[in-house]
Amino acid sequence: MLRTVDDALALRSRLTEGTRLVIVGAGWIGAEVATAAAKKGCRVTVAEAADTPLANAIGPEIGALTVPWYAEAGVELRTGVKVAAVDRDGLALAGGGRIDADEVLVGVGVRPNVGWLDGSGLLVERGVVTDASFRACLDGAAPGAAGPGAVRHDVVAVGDVAAWWSGRYGRRLLVEHWDTALNAPEVAAATLLGEDAAYDAAPYFWSEQFGRMVQYAGHHAASERLVRRGDPAGRKWAVAWLTGDRLDAILTVDRPRDLVQARRVIAAGTRVDAEALADPETPVRHAVKP
Ligand SMILES: Cc1cc2nc3c(=O)[nH]c(=O)nc-3n(C[C@H](O)[C@H](O)[C@H](O)COP(=O)(O)OP(=O)(O)OC[C@H]3O[C@@H](n4cnc5c(N)ncnc54)[C@H](O)[C@@H]3O)c2cc1C
Repeated sequence: MLRTVDDALALRSRLTEGTRLVIVGAGWIGAEVATAAAKKGCRVTVAEAADTPLANAIGPEIGALTVPWYAEAGVELRTGVKVAAVDRDGLALAGGGRIDADEVLVGVGVRPNVGWLDGSGLLVERGVVTDASFRACLDGAAPGAAGPGAVRHDVVAVGDVAAWWSGRYGRRLLVEHWDTALNAPEVAAATLLGEDAAYDAAPYFWSEQFGRMVQYAGHHAASERLVRRGDPAGRKWAVAWLTGDRLDAILTVDRPRDLVQARRVIAAGTRVDAEALADPETPVRHAVKP
C-alpha cells in the first residue's frame, strides 16, 4: 500500500535493480510507481482487472491510449487479470495461475474513512454528502442540490471525504485529488463563518507517468462527445469532452498550454468551435466562439 511519505520511502528503499515488482492496479498510482520502478531497473509487472489502464478514471477508450507507454518503458502490463490473493511469493490469480514477485504494491483506490459517522444523522454515501457550500446534508435529504433545512449549518465536509453538489455540472462530485483538497477548504471555512460561499471550480489533477505529464481539468461523466486533438500515437496530444458546444473537460499529454487555456474556457463556460479545437495547431483559446 502507498499512502504516506513513510510508505513511499520504504518502497523506494526496496526498489533495487532486478527486483521483481508486481503492481496490482493500472490506475494513477500504479502507472506512476511502475514508471519510477522501471527507471530503477526493477522488473515490473502491472496486473489490472479491467481491459485497459485508467478505465475507471478516464474511460476505456482513452485509457487504452496509454497501453503502449508500458511496453515502451519495459513494463509488462497484464489486463483482464483478477487477483485472488497476495501471498509471500507474489500473487495468486482468480481462476488459477500466479505471478511471482519479490515486492507487491496494491494500488486499487481509496475509500473515505466514514464509519465513525454512523448514527450522526448525516447523509453518508461513498463520502459525506454536502451542498455546494460543503454543508453536510442530513440523512434523508433529497438528492441533488439540497434545499434549506436539509443541511447542518455547523458541520462541513471537504476534501477526499466530501461528495459536494456542483452547480457547474448539475451533479454531485467526489474528487480525490490535491487541487480540490487545497482550494475547497477556503469555501468551507467561509461557510462556517456564515458567508454565502459556494465552490464551483472545475476539478483539476495531474499525473507524471512514463516520461509524460498528463493533466486533466473538468468533469466528463455526462458529456456528449469526444474530440481528439493531435495524434495519440505521438508524444503530445489531447482529448476534449463536449456537450453541444460547451467544453466540459480536457485531458492533455505534454500539452500544458492547452490545459491552462482549456481550464479558463471551462471556468468561463464560453462556447467552443469543435473543429478548431480538434486542430492541434490552433491554440485552445482561439477555438472560443465569438
Ligand atoms: C500515493 C498518493 C499519490 C497521490 N498523488 C496525487 C497527485 O499526483 N495529484 C493529485 O491531484 N492528487 C494525488 N493524490 C491524492 C491527494 O493526495 C488527496 O486528494 C489529498 O491528500 C486529499 O486531502 P484530504 O485532506 O481530503 O485527505 P487526506 O490527505 O487523506 O487527509 C485526511 C486525514 O484525516 C485523517 N483521519 C481520517 N479519519 C479520521 C478520524 N476519524 N479522526 C481524525 N483524523 C482522521 C487521516 O489519517 C488523514 O491524515 C495522491 C494520493 C496518494 C495516496
